[in-house]
Amino acid sequence: MSESKGAADRRRRVGIIGAGQLGRMLALAGYPLGLRFVFLDHSDDAPGGQVGDIVRGAFSDVERIRELAARVDVMTFDVENVPGEAVTEALDGTPFWPPVGALAAAQDRLSEKALFNQLGIMTPDSVAVDDQAGLISALERIGMPAVLKTRRLGYDGRGQRVIRSAADVDGAFAALGDVPCILEAFIAFEREVSLVAVRSTEGEFRAYALAENQHREGILRCTRAPYEDSELQATAEQCMLALMEHLAYAGVLTVEFFVSNGALIANEMAPRVHNSGHWTIEGAVTSQFENHVRAILGLPLGDTDCVGHSGMVNLIGEMPELARVLAIGNAHFHDYGKAARPARKLGHCTLVAADPAQRDAQLEVLIGLLPGD
Ligand code: AMP
Repeated sequence: MSESKGAADRRRRVGIIGAGQLGRMLALAGYPLGLRFVFLDHSDDAPGGQVGDIVRGAFSDVERIRELAARVDVMTFDVENVPGEAVTEALDGTPFWPPVGALAAAQDRLSEKALFNQLGIMTPDSVAVDDQAGLISALERIGMPAVLKTRRLGYDGRGQRVIRSAADVDGAFAALGDVPCILEAFIAFEREVSLVAVRSTEGEFRAYALAENQHREGILRCTRAPYEDSELQATAEQCMLALMEHLAYAGVLTVEFFVSNGALIANEMAPRVHNSGHWTIEGAVTSQFENHVRAILGLPLGDTDCVGHSGMVNLIGEMPELARVLAIGNAHFHDYGKAARPARKLGHCTLVAADPAQRDAQLEVLIGLLPGD
């Protein structure tokens, strides 16, 4: 059977740049729809390799992206550090969603904040910082505490430092690698929430319930959904719609917010399925993964309603014992098949309960099973 598009096998093929756990979960959601998946990744044993072919290459390798595009009907990505220029050069007519413009906007914290502000979405006050002297003048404007972040390639809390006092200022710019940065006001937030939403190539839009997220050392630790606040839900959806329409978006988009004095302040967006939406696999009628695939193929979107009260915990650095987790009758285990390494996301568990109190009690039991807790 030929693996190229247009071959006798009429199943639609999706190409994913990046074969991480997000790509793997996209493929797992797409198989029941009769889809096939091919990935581009620099590693043969990336999680996506368990569920599809991997074209070996760097995310910036135009030739390899071209090879992938030639094999599929639509392209998407599961990582944000895909250079838009390389993609544009390689596509040769193969549709690519979410659009390159969204990828570019999200890759640079400065352009991301400019976009939010242009659309009336509130963000922490911020100033671009290009050297240590610039940091000192930025601190005069923003005050302390503040957060210095690299403009590009920061994730899971990497590429940022909190500046609380004069003692933190010396060498702060160099410590982040002497690269262009942004200084943001530190938000003493009440909580962090995120909105995952989806828009199809046909313009259909659906949003999931807001989820509440807890981070530890910059890495998402735990998500609870729904976070029930109809006003914040409506505001978050308005922000999302404005972004999606402006970017002519198709696929899943995630925006992370701080809740401060009861208002939403946007922190960042991710133009892809998101860790804070993993609960939707068991906790919503249609998962973020299935809806992303439906959206980029122009298929009708599935309902995004919650089916209960979900709790999701990330399995970071070390895995708990499978049998002990599964002894919690409604716990679902997702092992990404990655080698254990400190601070690495190796999997996640979700449970869905009838009410928030039951969910929280069960989450506590689940968290008690995690090594290191
Ligand atoms: P980020 O990589 O921007 O998502 O930041 C990772 C985490 O650091 C966030 O989820 C927050 O917990 C914290 N953080 C980032 N920016 C700020 C800020 N301006 N004020 C307070 N906490 C922040």
